[in-house]
Amino acid sequence: MLGAMQDWNMVVSHLIDHAAREHGAREHVTRWADGTETRTDWAGIRRDALKMTQALRRLGIGKGDRIATLAMNHSRHLVSWYGAVGVGGVLHTVNPRLFDDQLDYIVNHAEDRVLLYDVAFQPIVDRMRSQWKTVEHYICYDPPAGSDVLGFEDWIGAEDGDTQWTQVAERDPCMLCYTSGTTGNPKGVLYEHRSTVLHAWTGLQPMAFDFDTQSVMLPVVPMFHAASWGLPWAGAMTGVKFVYSAVNEPKVLCDLMDREGVTHSAGVPTVWLAMFQHVDAEKRELPKLKQAVIGGSAAPRFMIERLMKAGIRVAHAWGMTETSPIGTVGAPTHDWDAKTFEQQVDMVQMQGRPTFGVELRTVSLDDMETELPRDGKSSGALQIRGPWIIKRYFKAEEDAARPDGWFDTGDVGIIHPDGTLQLTDRTKDVIKSGGEWISSVELENAAVGHPAVAEAAAVGMPHPRWDERPVLFVVRKAGADCCAQDIIDHLTPQVAKWWLPDAVEFVDDIPHTATGKISKKDLRARFADYRLEADA
Ligand code: ADP
Repeated sequence: MLGAMQDWNMVVSHLIDHAAREHGAREHVTRWADGTETRTDWAGIRRDALKMTQALRRLGIGKGDRIATLAMNHSRHLVSWYGAVGVGGVLHTVNPRLFDDQLDYIVNHAEDRVLLYDVAFQPIVDRMRSQWKTVEHYICYDPPAGSDVLGFEDWIGAEDGDTQWTQVAERDPCMLCYTSGTTGNPKGVLYEHRSTVLHAWTGLQPMAFDFDTQSVMLPVVPMFHAASWGLPWAGAMTGVKFVYSAVNEPKVLCDLMDREGVTHSAGVPTVWLAMFQHVDAEKRELPKLKQAVIGGSAAPRFMIERLMKAGIRVAHAWGMTETSPIGTVGAPTHDWDAKTFEQQVDMVQMQGRPTFGVELRTVSLDDMETELPRDGKSSGALQIRGPWIIKRYFKAEEDAARPDGWFDTGDVGIIHPDGTLQLTDRTKDVIKSGGEWISSVELENAAVGHPAVAEAAAVGMPHPRWDERPVLFVVRKAGADCCAQDIIDHLTPQVAKWWLPDAVEFVDDIPHTATGKISKKDLRARFADYRLEADA
């Protein structure tokens, strides 16, 4: 016997239809790179997205075609999200910070047919155009006055918006995001309508982005990174007012937050760091946010403390492009009020708990098979499964997840008895010394607490007796001085004795990936000839 409820195809167009119908007048504010501002609302976003579907059809673009964007955060970019998906296409958000060989690879691999871009990225388009074999149409969001480049507003302005979304099935694809490829070529993650809607629902809830009809969100996380954490989809569900800045300057962000009554924001830790520097230099207050979501890399303790002291709830989130990206989010636990401030900060420093739909487990790093207890001690390879978690990379021959759904995240973590995830490393970076594991991340976090250290990276170097031993690479702060022994003295009370690095090497810089994370791969390559002596 079947149940007796209605069919409801779980597709993205429901999101924008709902937002326009129920929250049509809620605003979208864009501060453009040239300092000008424009305003629209959810009804306007839908109207323009429908016009874009007409314009795309006129170009012969339809179901399954890939439509790329190379753009910062603004309302025209959002229109393109809904417009590309609305024509049955696959939105491919390209990260402009990728290196040229990666840009070459992903656009060709995705077989993008249309590319919409900000004029700020015109140099990239000019440089890459001859290599991007499949792109037939280039459309610029903000062409300079008098230029002969096709502008987005003119392109969609020729349409009347009197049309319907292309009918699709809920398991059809809607979006493609590539990982930045810390190993090998970038890999494409192909989201589908159903996974996107389910993920948007999870993002909405109080323990995640905490959206309601009063929320005003300034997403600092770029729309080209990891589906912008799903914010453009989730925000449609409660008609969130969006405030976008096409530039990531802390002054602009703080001004917008103050003026537009921003209650929620989301970004990687470096965003908040830049914000602190700005408010300190200008002797102004941090914006009066209700909640800041921090993810993408570990939020440092001092950052959490400072935001919490300013009355801002910090939701520390973990996820990856492969997980749409929400995996875990930190929210106050049932016994939160009974905790001291220090205990609360300890809690927020961990990566939070899975939202409904996500399952997590850790397995032994030795055999990648034996499931470890959730005891707050055992550290292992982190695996995840659920309806918005990757099954197979775009165009891959084999599944990335196991037949029972578990996907190896490449992260190493500890699961606490209450389900809280504590991330300790990446499987490629954890250091194996004499058969035991040392967390490179914990060494780095401890090292950056030294007042003279700007940045630190711990790498396992081959060792004749112990297999690997940690070496710490340190960039000193400008004008600061410290020696290797100072660093060791600083680390000694914080980590086990056998974790202490065998050497501390001072370097001028540490290589980063296109998304700003430390690139251990490049660091290892730079020090490929490095040798540690056998100890006594
Ligand atoms: P990219 O490599 O393109 O930046 P992702 O955004 O998908 O790709 O990166 C996901 C990875 O970022 C995770 O596997 C994890 O290693 C790291 N990460 C994400 N959130 C956190 C967090 N809160 N704390 C520590 N590491 C994190």
